[in-house]
Amino acid sequence: MIPRVRFAHLPTPIEPLPRLGAALGGARLWVKRDDLTGLAGGGNKTRKLEYILAEAQANGARTLITVGAVQSNHCRQTAALAARYGLGCILVLSGEREDQPSGNVLLDRLFGAEIIYCAAEERNQVLQQVFEEAWVAGKRPYLIPLGASTPVGAFGYVTAFEEFLNQGVEVDWIVVASSSAGTQAGLMLAALKAGWAGKILGISIDHPAAELQLRVAELVNEAAERIGSKIHCQPVDVMVNDQYLGKGYGIPSSEEIEAIRLFARYEGLLLDPVYTGRAAAALIDLIRKGYFKPQERILFWHTGGTPALFAERYRLLLAE
Ligand SMILES: *Cc1c(COP(=O)(O)O)cnc(C)c1O
Repeated sequence: MIPRVRFAHLPTPIEPLPRLGAALGGARLWVKRDDLTGLAGGGNKTRKLEYILAEAQANGARTLITVGAVQSNHCRQTAALAARYGLGCILVLSGEREDQPSGNVLLDRLFGAEIIYCAAEERNQVLQQVFEEAWVAGKRPYLIPLGASTPVGAFGYVTAFEEFLNQGVEVDWIVVASSSAGTQAGLMLAALKAGWAGKILGISIDHPAAELQLRVAELVNEAAERIGSKIHCQPVDVMVNDQYLGKGYGIPSSEEIEAIRLFARYEGLLLDPVYTGRAAAALIDLIRKGYFKPQERILFWHTGGTPALFAERYRLLLAE
């Protein structure tokens, strides 16, 4: 058993998407609402942080340090977690500092996190330096890597998949946004353990397929080892589609904005402009192209991120 601190709001509901499905020619769609996991806006990092916090506590941590892009959901969820457990929080954010903090950054500030801005190229170096300074200052820092995608963090999605199985909604496909690989790796490990017959398709947000497949497979194998499982997966076993990278990370295409509108107008649901908007645009395109068989049931695994809708840089784009 991997130690875990429980604070997530679980189980998250699985809901049908009948109006969206009909609008897409009769697709059979469900959504797993991991936008409702808790920690100030929810999202997939909450599940991973249940395991990461247990590890941090075992290490005597008094300060959580983590890293991400300016509108990082992972950083916002970590800042909320630190506030809730009385820990310090330092965030290293790559990208432009906004004159008026908005979206996730506004929340980071509200939770009292210390924010350090840097350029993407120097991010790891700055992170290391910040950690060493915090250590020397006696803050007992604990470093959470990008996206909390460690073998331990991936267990958040091992138990998430088990939760999904227990909910008894049978589907043929799970479609999920995939970036730092921990979410897809956790789902895959649990699916392999359970001998699940369906397919898990990761929509790459910002990496070529080969890179992401390799990272997912590594995490599956490292996590399997921790629980003494013999499961071993190869990169080719990992289903990744990298045809939707568009102009890059955090730059929504018109198809992504359409996907966000379709979810909003047919189902009253919010997606986000970086991850779930991209994954949903891919899902919709694949449905329209006939990638899935007509009778196949598809679960869109919502990974959260909705506070980014209120980021300065996306607001106008979405309001048109
Ligand atoms: C971090 C994040 C993802 C990607 O999950 P990984 O485990 O990093 O692959 C997807 N959606 C949202 C909203 C996220 O914040």
